[in-house]
Amino acid sequence: MDNEIKETIRFVLEDDNEGMQAALDPDSDLDEENKQMNRELIQRHKQILAKLDRGEALSQEDLVLVREANEIHVNDGLDLGGHHKEALVLDEWLDNLIELSVDTAMRILEEHLDKDSKTPARVYRALHTLGEEATRNGVVEVRAFDEEGRCVKCGSSVAFADVTDTVVFVGDEIVKRYDGDITNRNCVRCMYPKRYPEYEDYDEGEKK
Ligand SMILES: [Zn+2]
Repeated sequence: MDNEIKETIRFVLEDDNEGMQAALDPDSDLDEENKQMNRELIQRHKQILAKLDRGEALSQEDLVLVREANEIHVNDGLDLGGHHKEALVLDEWLDNLIELSVDTAMRILEEHLDKDSKTPARVYRALHTLGEEATRNGVVEVRAFDEEGRCVKCGSSVAFADVTDTVVFVGDEIVKRYDGDITNRNCVRCMYPKRYPEYEDYDEGEKK
């Protein structure tokens, strides 16, 4: 990590901590829950600063926190805080290190293609085909369902999922079957609305 980047990271984390620390003042009107969040984030920032001191590599989670702390300086186009230029350099550096989700990767490419009005429609089609291919192989689309297995869009907990078993064939006879992973989990209410009434009772049963 080059020294300038290191210095900028140090600055944005310390700057953010100072602001959050000030909001912990007994006279501040921040509620207790937010104060607690501030305290935790200050601690996380301090751990990252300690890693920098020890010359340790930062984790993906650390990098995301650095990006969040840096955002205010990236958006400071008038450079009122005096660190806009360094913040842009840091942001670009983070871009190269933070892992992309398929969705983010698609959005970046799409935005880029949009800039050229001559981009042929088949280029977008190619992009979407790749995107679909990439998500199909993901075991379960994590973000489509919350921790309790409810669809994040509609809250229903009924889903259809494919289970891919591996079977051992000898000739045309199946001699062994290995239980597979769940793939393609889809909310029934969102994706198969016509079939949903059959299963609606399961959602109703939960509400009591
Ligand atoms: Zn749904």
